Amino acid sequence: MSDARIGAHGPQGEPVSGKQSRHRLTVVSGPSGVGKSSVVGELRRLNPEIYFSVSVTTRPPRPGEVDGQHYHFVDREGFQDLIARGELLEHAEFAGNCYGTPRTPVEEALRAGRPAVLEIELQGARQVRAAMPDSRLVMLVPPSWGELVGRLTGRGTEQDEAVQARLAEAERELAAAGEFDATVVNADVRAAARELLDLMTGEDAESSR
Ligand code: 5GP
Repeated sequence: MSDARIGAHGPQGEPVSGKQSRHRLTVVSGPSGVGKSSVVGELRRLNPEIYFSVSVTTRPPRPGEVDGQHYHFVDREGFQDLIARGELLEHAEFAGNCYGTPRTPVEEALRAGRPAVLEIELQGARQVRAAMPDSRLVMLVPPSWGELVGRLTGRGTEQDEAVQARLAEAERELAAAGEFDATVVNADVRAAARELLDLMTGEDAESSR
């Protein structure tokens, strides 16, 4: 890793050096189905220097999900053990499953001067804010409620009941948008990722809090 700063990007997407974000830890939240994974994936492509946390979860893997890459998949006992040992930076129960952020890799990345991104739900975002007040909280929102319902039901990865649980959570999450430093509308994955990167590197990162 040559340089720890996130480069801002010029008109051709080329890195522009000289800007350094004060907010090294960025939390990306938003309702299930809003497209957080796609936007964060695009952000990864735009700036490979960013460290992206891999969460621990008790949710069973979806088809195509790889242990250690998308999540660390553990059972409830293993999860409780991690909590007891203080190894999670934050953790929450979401739609019947447990999720948490391994503390050490995030702290190591930040110590090494790498910006870090957590893609987590609302309760976790609140815990991070309390523990690390300098973190920057961004909420990704859908262009409309109808769009979110369409995406969640059309995804086909969850049973009806799970979709309902996620929609109920989504309402609660969107209602908390005011607690966040910024909201980004995900109408287009590339545009949303670039907006997120701009928030992490731009002037307003210095002045909005
Ligand atoms: P999914 O089951 O769809 O992968 O994730 C469900 C929700 O859990 C999403 O909102 C996702 O952002 C959130 N999530 C994933 N990892 C974590 C984590 O480590 N902590 C918390 N609090 N939420 C997480």
